[in-house]
Amino acid sequence: MLTCKQLIESLADYLDGQLPLSRVAAFKLHLLCCDHCRSYLHNYEATIVASQEALRKEEEDTGPIEVPEDLIQAILKARQEP
Ligand SMILES: [Zn+2]
Repeated sequence: MLTCKQLIESLADYLDGQLPLSRVAAFKLHLLCCDHCRSYLHNYEATIVASQEALRKEEEDTGPIEVPEDLIQAILKARQEP
């Protein structure tokens, strides 16, 4: 069984599709059993989506790409937890 720390460390690989299949099973099993990691993953994905949408919107406006400071802080914070 993965620990929460191991799961968080694998999160970026998982979302990139880089996590080996042998570990994906353990990853998903842990998510099924662990409310903490489920909500963490949810928040993490929401942050990624928000940052991608912010970037895309900037590109559509053909203005300079500028990520709001509070969004950067939210991403950094999410990466540091727990
Ligand atoms: Zn967990």
